[in-house]
Amino acid sequence: MFFSKKCLQVSLVLLAALFFLAVAFACSSHEAESSSHVVEETEAFSSSPASPTKAMADLSSSALSGIEAPVASLLEKLKPAQLEVYVAVPSTAYSAKGSREALQEFPAGTTLSVAEDEDEVFWFEASLEDGRTGFLYGETLFPIQEDGTPSAQSLTAQRISSRMSALYEKLPQGKYWNHMGEESDGEDPFSVTDIPCEHSIYGEVYCNFYDGKTLEYFPEYGTLSQCMGFASFLSDQLFGEDSGLSLFYDIDRLQIGDHIRLYEYEHSMIVVKKDENSITVAEVNENYEDCLISWNRVIFFDELEGLSWDSTYATRYPMYRNESGGFSFWEDSSSGFEVEYNDFPEEDFSENYDDFGDWEDWEDGEG
Ligand SMILES: [Zn+2]
Repeated sequence: MFFSKKCLQVSLVLLAALFFLAVAFACSSHEAESSSHVVEETEAFSSSPASPTKAMADLSSSALSGIEAPVASLLEKLKPAQLEVYVAVPSTAYSAKGSREALQEFPAGTTLSVAEDEDEVFWFEASLEDGRTGFLYGETLFPIQEDGTPSAQSLTAQRISSRMSALYEKLPQGKYWNHMGEESDGEDPFSVTDIPCEHSIYGEVYCNFYDGKTLEYFPEYGTLSQCMGFASFLSDQLFGEDSGLSLFYDIDRLQIGDHIRLYEYEHSMIVVKKDENSITVAEVNENYEDCLISWNRVIFFDELEGLSWDSTYATRYPMYRNESGGFSFWEDSSSGFEVEYNDFPEEDFSENYDDFGDWEDWEDGEG
């Protein structure tokens, strides 16, 4: 996908150069109008505070050497929009998105330009010292603001936060995630209504369905609806359907956007906020009855610890923050389960089964 985009970009640059020359020869007075589309697009790019990248300098100086000055300046304008970022923790440039082949280290405290790529959450392209292209993890990069200081949020956090806000708008607090009273087969995951599902009467008839990437890791559920369908949908919307998924069990590694799956409680939640003592989650169907959408339940970490015997966490982030403050890749998704599971202290596990007894009592009480 990326590779073909790159090819397309190069082709576009060459085409634009040829086109420019042809137009210049044929009709010198008409060039601005003919290429107005290209110019319009590139004006926005040139307003970014980026400095020229090495790869582009190489492209215009050697690959197309001897070219006329106006063409070189057009090429300069055609390069992808750049974003000036501050490297907050040591950051590695990898050979491709998600690859573990390291090409160059960027020490903390440096600044560099990365491609702006609005569709990307995790991996940002930069030109390296040797002229190659590398991809840096967005959690290590902090966009430099107009006043010259780095933003408080990482590039990845900013992207996720704006996607989260958009989802909050489309799937608002207090609506029901269903298609009650609508002509629908339940396959539109953006369908919301003002009418509760009433599962005890209608079952899942009016619930929305969404499988997505999450189902691949929880195939035992067959198809996803209600809380788990909603969590799966949010996850894909936040990180992209093609983003990988890793399962883990360490509460300290929970990040915004992660899915908390409770097996015995049969409930799913997405982390939307995290601070020192608590997380806030988005969920539907907290009462198992109506698919009510909620974005504001606060769960304290000690409560979450109490649920850890029942919890599996699913993340789309390729890396987590390690003990030395840097970032480590998750173990391979398929083996991550065993690695983390074996680390679980056995006596804690059995002890927590007592809690499960309490929960059964609670459930009986609630009906
Ligand atoms: Zn429902």
